[in-house]
Amino acid sequence: MTITNVDLSSCDREQVHLVGAIQPHGVLLVLAEPELRIVQASTNSADFLDVPCERLVGQCLDGLLGEENTAAIRTQLVKKELANATHLISVPFLSSQNGVVHISGNRINGLLLLEFELSAGTVEMIPAHAYSSRLQDMIQQLYGSAGLLSFLSVVVEQVRILTGFERVMIYRFDRDGSGMVIAEAKETNLEAYLGLHYPASDIPEPARRLFALSPLRHLPDVDYVPVPLFPDQSPLSDGSPVDLSHSFLRSVSVMYTSYLRNMGVKATLVMPLLKSDKLWGLISCMHHSEPKYLAYEQRFPVELLSRMISLRIGDLENLDHYAYRTQLIQAYCQLIGEMGRAKNYHDVLFGSKINLLNGINADGAALLENGKVTLLGITPTAYQVGLLAEWLAQQKDAVLVTHCLSYNFQAAGEFSAVASGLLAIRISRVNLTWVMWFRPEVLSETHWAGDPKKPVIIDDEDQESRLQPRTSFALWKETVRGYSEPWLDCEIEHVRKMRQSLHDILIEQTCQLIRLNTELELSNQALNNFVYAASHDLKEPLRGIHNYAELLRLEEGEHLSGQGHQRIETILCLTERMHHFLEALLEYSHLDYIEQDFQIYSITLLVEEIVDMLKKTNPNESITVDIQPAMPDILCNSTFVKVIFQNLIMNAIKYNAEAVKTIKIGCYTTNGMPVFFVQDNGIGISSEFHEYIFQPFKRLHGHKEYGGGSGVGLALTQKAITQHGGRIWIESGEGKGSTFCFTLTPEHVEEGGE
Ligand code: ADP
Repeated sequence: MTITNVDLSSCDREQVHLVGAIQPHGVLLVLAEPELRIVQASTNSADFLDVPCERLVGQCLDGLLGEENTAAIRTQLVKKELANATHLISVPFLSSQNGVVHISGNRINGLLLLEFELSAGTVEMIPAHAYSSRLQDMIQQLYGSAGLLSFLSVVVEQVRILTGFERVMIYRFDRDGSGMVIAEAKETNLEAYLGLHYPASDIPEPARRLFALSPLRHLPDVDYVPVPLFPDQSPLSDGSPVDLSHSFLRSVSVMYTSYLRNMGVKATLVMPLLKSDKLWGLISCMHHSEPKYLAYEQRFPVELLSRMISLRIGDLENLDHYAYRTQLIQAYCQLIGEMGRAKNYHDVLFGSKINLLNGINADGAALLENGKVTLLGITPTAYQVGLLAEWLAQQKDAVLVTHCLSYNFQAAGEFSAVASGLLAIRISRVNLTWVMWFRPEVLSETHWAGDPKKPVIIDDEDQESRLQPRTSFALWKETVRGYSEPWLDCEIEHVRKMRQSLHDILIEQTCQLIRLNTELELSNQALNNFVYAASHDLKEPLRGIHNYAELLRLEEGEHLSGQGHQRIETILCLTERMHHFLEALLEYSHLDYIEQDFQIYSITLLVEEIVDMLKKTNPNESITVDIQPAMPDILCNSTFVKVIFQNLIMNAIKYNAEAVKTIKIGCYTTNGMPVFFVQDNGIGISSEFHEYIFQPFKRLHGHKEYGGGSGVGLALTQKAITQHGGRIWIESGEGKGSTFCFTLTPEHVEEGGE
């Protein structure tokens, strides 16, 4: 360990539960079941049990306790699982001390661990009736307190009376593992710890784990000499030391005792406070003047009390935020109700009356959907929200909660004034949809117990570096930056509910879209059938009109006036146009009847074939066509592909006033997908018409200009491309030539989703 990498969290690496030693206020025996043979014993056994450990090992329990007591223990062993240390029996013990011995046990790794603690006459006992009236008083007082903090301040007072410890405090953990003293009762001459913050490293992870495991930890004398187990070889076949995680007598970390000594503490008693089975805080009792041992009978009611307090914490916390919770529930119901009625949930989330910020204590909100950012209230910029979303996309959790964003995502330091607090929910992985709530930075003065940045000092005496927790517990003030008010459980619950509802709405909308699409496809098909039949049937009478007009001109021409002749010419002209129009319509709807025959074709070969044909049909034009030689082979319908290239190349020739018409045909790749293009040096198309010209029968010129046309060519092209799942777009401007680009495969959609 070097000076730079060491801190109190080095305890995290210390295997405190495998120390192989106990504290001296009891005896530990390790036994093999079912015969209850002693395989290891603490070396202080002679002091308590009058039998030296060397004689105990190898003996069976009845040799020590007698048959009757052993039988009573066996009965308990059958009944109980003993995953945690559990009291088994208390027996009068035939020893020189003539007291009662309390025996508790726990099972671990196939071994039975029995702990013996004497309740000798040496301990001053309060009579049972006095104890029970004290407990009754306490329970009455506890029920009288309104709100969590006043409840806890009664708790510390009562625990102090009950145990006689000089200081009792309640320490509450924050989400990041650091903590704060939120209630304290102490002797008046002692310095107050109330309101002090402790860095996460002060109670390292293994210590937190062990605290959560046992209902009570007692260290009667900080200066105790650890008692080893005999023999020191492990009784386990793999040679690993016996795990003392659940043992009440377990020896504690050297770091912990040094830390307590530095604080001027001589004895401790610590009980975990659990909320929904998670470590919420600790009741920590300290004695400063001398060691203090609390016998089993005195500890038992305190343990019960701490369990009872754990049960009340959740309720009281909820009670503290009762009004706010109700407000959040109302806001949620309103939003969900509106969303159910509205066509678009987006409008509701950002509405002027009801919106994402309703009810919740946040200054800004944002929605990110398909890369588009919508903001509400005081937020980072859309660009910054985009950056945030990139970071969010790397997180595996669908709900992200932080009240110090810039400590998790450094770039957020730029906007920590408006968004130090972030609540983010992922609605969809496919469209990368996130909803976020922001809270501004709150500059607060934190009172640390000692310098949080120097949790440990290195003792360099004797040229040997030894780790020592800091000796100074002076109040250390620090202005904390980059923190917002922490998010409450009820707020997290609120956004989780929002996430579920938005998710459901999204699924509902997608299903509706699929249904509408299917209906649309069916009605399109019906319309197409009609168009096909109608244009086919109209051709016949149209031919009749044309023929009769022709006959009229031939047979009756000499009787007609000049104006009469002109009218007949117009009829013939119009019927001809009508004929082309019907042909185009037929061609357009005919595309739906072409067999869906998809095979791998060489696009280069197909294009060469079409260009040859077009050059033959336009012999008088001066045309240069540059075909990229190695365009990829594609799974496609050759009839459709011919329709596409034929129309695009024909247009490239038609809408071109240059002396030499230059056409370039090729393919490039984007995101692994081939994109084909037909480029010309023609008249170009102004951007406002880029979508318009794909509609059937839409032209940008008079019907005789640029060789005329029905205006259906590009509509046909688009339809043929859509049949492949691809799309078409234009890159062009007036007088700048045109490039028509298209794909023949569906665009890649990312797999996944909630
Ligand atoms: P048509 O050629 O029968 O008019 P299209 O659907 O093929 O029908 O084209 C629609 C319109 O788009 C054309 O009338 C023309 O104005 C414009 N257009 C199509 N291709 C080009 C091109 N390569 N350059 C300029 N304008 C074009």
